[in-house]
Parts: sequence; C-alpha cells; structure tokens
Amino acid sequence: MAKNLVIVESPAKVHTIKKFLGSNYEVMASQGHVRDMPKSQLGFDPENDFEPKYITIRGKGELLAALRKEVKKADKIYLATDPDREGEAISWHLTHALNLQDKKVYRITFNEITKTAVKNSLKNPREIDMDLVDAQQARRMLDRMVGYKISPLLWAKVKRGLSAGRVQSVALRIICDREKEIEQFIPQEYYTLDVLLDAKDAKKPIVAKYYGDTSGKKDISDKESLDNIMSDLKGADFNIASIKRGTREKKAPLPFTTSTMQQEASKALNFSIQKTMSVAQQLYEGVSVKGHGTIGLITYLRTDSTRVSDEARAAAEQFITGNYGQEYLSAPVNTGKKNNGKVQDAHEAIRPANIEMIPSEIKESLTRDQFRLYQLVWKRFVASQMANAVYDTVSLNVQAKNHVFTASDSSIKFDGFMMIYVSADDEAESKTHPLSKLTEDTKLGFNSFEEKQHFTQPAPHFTEASLVKTLEELGIGRPSTYSPTITTLLKRHYITKEAKNLFVTELGEVVNSIMEASFPIIVDDKFTANLELLLDGVEEGTVEWKSVVRNFYPDLEKAVEVAEEELAKVEIHDEVTDVICEECGRNMVIKFGPHGKFLACPGFPECRNTKPFLEKIGVPCPKCGGDVVIRKSQKGRKFFGCANHPECDFISWSKPTTEKCPKCGTYMVEKGNKLVCANDDCRFVENQNK
Ligand SMILES: [Zn+2]
Ligand SMILES: [Zn+2]
Ligand SMILES: [Zn+2]
Repeated sequence: MAKNLVIVESPAKVHTIKKFLGSNYEVMASQGHVRDMPKSQLGFDPENDFEPKYITIRGKGELLAALRKEVKKADKIYLATDPDREGEAISWHLTHALNLQDKKVYRITFNEITKTAVKNSLKNPREIDMDLVDAQQARRMLDRMVGYKISPLLWAKVKRGLSAGRVQSVALRIICDREKEIEQFIPQEYYTLDVLLDAKDAKKPIVAKYYGDTSGKKDISDKESLDNIMSDLKGADFNIASIKRGTREKKAPLPFTTSTMQQEASKALNFSIQKTMSVAQQLYEGVSVKGHGTIGLITYLRTDSTRVSDEARAAAEQFITGNYGQEYLSAPVNTGKKNNGKVQDAHEAIRPANIEMIPSEIKESLTRDQFRLYQLVWKRFVASQMANAVYDTVSLNVQAKNHVFTASDSSIKFDGFMMIYVSADDEAESKTHPLSKLTEDTKLGFNSFEEKQHFTQPAPHFTEASLVKTLEELGIGRPSTYSPTITTLLKRHYITKEAKNLFVTELGEVVNSIMEASFPIIVDDKFTANLELLLDGVEEGTVEWKSVVRNFYPDLEKAVEVAEEELAKVEIHDEVTDVICEECGRNMVIKFGPHGKFLACPGFPECRNTKPFLEKIGVPCPKCGGDVVIRKSQKGRKFFGCANHPECDFISWSKPTTEKCPKCGTYMVEKGNKLVCANDDCRFVENQNK
C-alpha cells in the first residue's frame, strides 16, 4: 500500500489530521521554521547580490532526522504548512532541508481544519509558489537589515540589548507623536445649551439642542454668548418649524479579518491582541468537541480578506433562512470589498468552520476564553450574511425668535442582523421615543434650559485596538505583524500599558528620538507603507524580490555610516551627577535600565550601589516648596512629583513652572510653547515669551 507523508507546522494539528486521513498517511509537524539565517551574522551577502545564507535552526537537527526517516518510507510528500507567506516559506525550506528535490512533493493548503477541507486539499495539490516564498524572504531580510544595522548603534548610545525594528520603530514613533500631541493639547472652552420643551401627550419633555440661528450653525464659545442667547429667549415662543421623517439603514458588518477581530475582541471581551491570537490559534488548530472529536472551529486566523467562500455562504443562507426566516437573509451576497490580486483571492475572512456548531451548544467543550472568542466570530459571521437593520427616524427643527434648536430620534423598524450581533461600538439605543407622535402643529411649552460648560478633549491615548486600527489604516501592518509588533514594544519596555491605554516610557522616548534624528526614513510611515506594498507586489508576482532588497540596502547603509560618524564625534560618557555614593564616596553616574534612568556607582564591580535617579527640574513644589522631580509610575509612565513624597502628594502630568496665573494665582504648567493654569476651573492660557 502507498505510504504518504503530510507535514504540518504545528504539533497540535497532527492528531486531528491523522484521524481525518486514515492509516495510509503519516502526519508530522515541522514545529515552525526549520531553517533561518544565522543569528551571529547579517545572513546575506550584499557583495553577492544579497544571496541569503540559511542554516538549520539550532535544536531542530533531531526533528529533521526524524522527518528524513519518514521521507524515505514515503512515496508522496504533502507539505501542509499554514496558508500564508510564512507557511509557504516553511514548505520551501523543508524541501531543501529534507532534500526533497527528487521526491514527489505536493504543496497543499486548507483554510480550516475539517475533514472535508483537508480531504479536498489532497485533491488540489500544487507546486510551491515562489512568489509567496520570495515575499517572505524579502521581508525577513529587510527586517534583519534594520535590526542588525541599527541595534548596535542604540547599544552604543543608550544601553546594550536595545533593538530597532522595521515596523516596530514606526509604531513607536506613532505612539510617541500621539503622546506629544496629548501633552501639548490646550483645552478650548465651549458651551452647549439644551432646551426642555413640554408637548401635549408626551410623558417626558422633549430635549432640543441649540443649533444656531436662521442663518446657520453657531458655536457658543464663551459664557457671555451663552448668557446673551438665554436672556434673548426669555419668554419667547418655541415652535416646531419642520419635522422630517424617514428611514435609515444600518449595514450588516463584514466578517472578521485579523485586524477587526483583534479590535473587537479587545473592546467586547477585554482581550489583549496577543491573547486573541493565541485563543484563535487554538480554535483554528482544533478543539475536542463532545460528539465530534477534535475539529478546527474557525478558519485561518491571519488574513486581511473579507471574502466568504461559496460553500460557507450557502451554509449561512440555509442556517439563516431556517432559523430566522427569509427576510433576515442579506441580498445581494455580503462579501465585502473585493480585494485585488491573486493573493487575497485565495484568502478568506475569519469565520466558523461549520456554522452548525452553535456556540451555546458546544460551550461545555470549550474553555471560557475559547467560548467567548468563538461566539464572537460565529455571531459576527452570521450577522455579516444577514439583512441590514432599518430605523425609523424623526428630526425636528424648533425655532424661537431667530434661534434654532434641533432634536432627533430613531426607533428600530426591522432588526435584521442586530437580532444576533451588536458591535461594541454601537451605543444602546434609547427606548423611549418622545418625538414619534409630534406633528408640525404640536404646541410646545418652555420648561427649562440646561446649559453646560465643556472643554475640548485631546485625542485619546492609543489602546492596542486603536493602534492596530491606525497601523492598518496607514498601510503599515499586516495580519501576521500586528501582534508581534505590540508585544515587542511592551517586552522592550519602550511602551507600557495602564488599564487599556498605551504610554511611552522614558526609554521609548530616548530610542524614538535617536531613530527620528538618525533614521527618519525607518520611522516614516509612508516609506514603510510603500515597502509593504512592494512586498505585496512580490507576492503577486509583479515585483522582483531582490530589487526591493537591493534598493533599500544602500540608503540604510549610508544612514548608519552617518550616524556612526556622529557617534564618534560625541564621546559617550555616563553623565556624572553631584550625588555622592554613600558606600565609597564616588560621584554617581546616570545609567539606563528597563524602567528608565537610574543612578549607579562608577566603582562597579567593587561597589554595586544603585539608587533611583530623581531628576530635579529646578522648580519648587507648589505645595511644600521642595524640589519637583521627574518620577515614573509603577509601569513606567512619566510624571512630575515632589521629592518629599510620600510626605507631600503633589503630582502633575504636565511640567510645572515658577509662573503664577495672572487670573487666579495658581501655578502654571507647560503645554508646548504655552503656559496653562493648572487650576481646572480657570485654565487660563498664556503665550510664553520666547
Ligand atoms: Zn560606590
Ligand atoms: Zn511638595
Ligand atoms: Zn488660573
């Protein structure tokens, strides 16, 4: 009997697939990559047209020997690594590492680990797609160039062990920019004015918002304007000028891609990006489900496509019509934007492998996290194939003298997809609809005003979810890179996470400022986005991979040379302070640790004294007159505090100054090139004289 060998990436799949294929198939796992460029060197030769040098990854020798033994016994070899660039590259490396050139070798891919999908893949084998492999090779080499060429410079300038990364450094810059923007943001005062109006038959008053006057929209930017409007309206009649009724459709969502799944799981389930990917991996590789054995519950988790296969659509049609009724089915087919190129056509959205695996029915076979993520994927997919929701809408123009107020209201007419899925972004709709009964003749009676002072808010801090969204919008991220990029930044202590917000650490700031000064191209998002497009071009067969590498390398080399020269000019010394080491009497120096600057004794190693570095900013504490110093929260976020802590509890996110507010006498803080009063009720702004 013919013997076949199937090689997959992950050991978790071996058992499942073996069971699907029966005794004629031996299934083994490569356990990820088997070959890579050597760690100790760049790994390719710029003098020899960038030919990469690959060696067996340390520790993989035994595994390869075991694989070779099985290869000898097999007539046909099926390479079944993951269906993306990286998987293709692993298959290609396997053909070399296992000397498969003279063997009958077939590349097979399946988007889901189910019996049907795996068996079908065997009927549709192909050759290794070198375009995919080359896109992966080019990415690896570009990443390596940046890492291997720039990291040593960071070591020399800041501290050993730091790293730069092609995508990681742009992401860090984007976070730093946002932090700067927030730090320098000056809130602007504005007011809103609501009028509560009584209408006949209405249980609650109608709330209409100030819009402007009959000539157009007006903002209320100070208290005086507000008071003028209110006094002008004293005793005025409020009349309905117009009522508009209509309907509005709310579109069913698209099925998940990697990025949207990460964002939604973060918002709805409070999962970190890394956790989402690890749980999704389990769901994809196979879970033991009571009565079904081990099966893959969702399709491949790294994808930027929203395409839905014809089979999956047909199954969804049957499920929705059978369970909810014909009117709940979307028409035409909701497959989302058609991605161009052969690449995406082969890919699919993330969806349940079998729609009949209803989350609540298999709950007891899943862990809590698996269940919650599976339910999210399942509901999102079913919703994506359902009809849009429809709302009845009413909008109202109310006039009093020449002032205009507006009110609007909507009520659900047909729930459509919302019957099973409401995204975390959608606010709960109000249940009462006081506007529904109004006509243009309805008499309104003035009840009261509700006026409110507001201040404009800065852009929010990045969260993992919003960073992924931004990276995708800028064209920087790819499904396989979002999670590793964020994980690396956190692991290196360049950023820190407090609650859900991401903050830059002191170390991150230092690394970013060096990158911005010496390698502006590397941290330029347009440059990085363009490089990603070129890699997509390689995958599609329209760009030659070595041309990407050839064009990139000289620019990088030159930038590194210049940076090295600059570095040689400025001798790097540890900054000496006036703090005396109490153990040996030497002046202590400033060092960089994972949590930012600290003081160390230069007598190391015979004196190992270290202590926290309290950097004085030369401003007395507004509370107690002590020194204001730069401090860090437990997670590494920078703030200004008092050296007399804990006796004095003064803290400020913005840098305090010695200036006093001319209006209220409170101390002022720096915001960009302006001084702002620290008193929340005053917020006086003064342009700094420079
Ligand atoms: Zn000492
Ligand atoms: Zn103090
Ligand atoms: Zn003030």
